[in-house]
Amino acid sequence: MTAYHHPDSLEAALAMLARSPDAACLAGGQSLVAGMNTGLVRPPALIDLNRLDALRGIEVDADGGVAIGAMTTHDTVAREARFPGALALLAAAAGQIAHPAIRVRGTIGGSICHADPAADYPAVLVALDAAIEIARAEGRRTVPARRFFTGFLATDLRPGELVTQIRFPPFVGAAAYEKLRRSEGDFAIVSLALALQIDGGVCRRVGLAVGGCGSTPVRSDDADALLMGSTLDETAVAAAGTALAQATEPVDDVRASAAYRRLMIPRLLARAVARVRSR
Ligand SMILES: Cc1cc2nc3c(=O)[nH]c(=O)nc-3n(C[C@H](O)[C@H](O)[C@H](O)COP(=O)(O)OP(=O)(O)OC[C@H]3O[C@@H](n4cnc5c(N)ncnc54)[C@H](O)[C@@H]3O)c2cc1C
Repeated sequence: MTAYHHPDSLEAALAMLARSPDAACLAGGQSLVAGMNTGLVRPPALIDLNRLDALRGIEVDADGGVAIGAMTTHDTVAREARFPGALALLAAAAGQIAHPAIRVRGTIGGSICHADPAADYPAVLVALDAAIEIARAEGRRTVPARRFFTGFLATDLRPGELVTQIRFPPFVGAAAYEKLRRSEGDFAIVSLALALQIDGGVCRRVGLAVGGCGSTPVRSDDADALLMGSTLDETAVAAAGTALAQATEPVDDVRASAAYRRLMIPRLLARAVARVRSR
């Protein structure tokens, strides 16, 4: 039998996690409860985070940075109109997660802690160089998104820890989120998150990552370098797309073959660049 706890404060939740490090945090329940129903996960205890209002909400800093509480729902992020510059990528991606019924319950913290390779947030967080803030009873630590996702359904989170907030540094520019999926509401076959700063027609900053093509989001320093300093002409974008595809390790699964995924990456990149330039 699974014990159920519903703490009123972060401190109380962390104290419970310290006593029961194998307990599972319950956020929106959209992945966890489904896993429990099918018997895939059997946590000894649930620590419900839904009373922790301090973990909910979006802050936009004066310098253009953004902080999102772990318990903020996909729907809230999708509806946020204040994201500065390329951080609008967050709303674009959140609005494409699943169906409305899942978006009003599912949270950004739950999504990244579940770490499904086909989920929408992980590539966005990596592209935007987000920092994940993690708490435990004895203290706090911050992990870059690039190191947070460690494998299939696996993260850097240790027993006794929970995610409190995700911070995004300012990113002047514009962004596009491309999601290839079989049908409305489905997980991605391939997703591509792109943020660009373009000055005088020349690309000055790149945030680019792919999801659904390996156990964790993929970035490619080679692809970034091919875009940086270019005028984002067809040749540069095609070369970057090829470099990005080569950096991935997709697998065949029920949604698509690995070969199809690789083939689509340069096309999604070209589409995303065109979309950013039109903004
Ligand atoms: C039919 C369906 C379609 C979906 N389609 C998509 C899709 O297209 N794209 C997409 O990205 N996702 C999709 N999802 C997943 C959805 O986004 C979930 O909401 C998300 O994966 C989990 O968020 P949650 O808040 O419900 O977390 P929960 O299910 O409550 O928790 C998930 C995991 O994270 C842990 N956890 C939760 N919060 C914290 C925290 N703050 N700190 C530490 N650990 C924590 C839990 O213990 C659990 O292990 C879909 C889900 C369903 C059911």
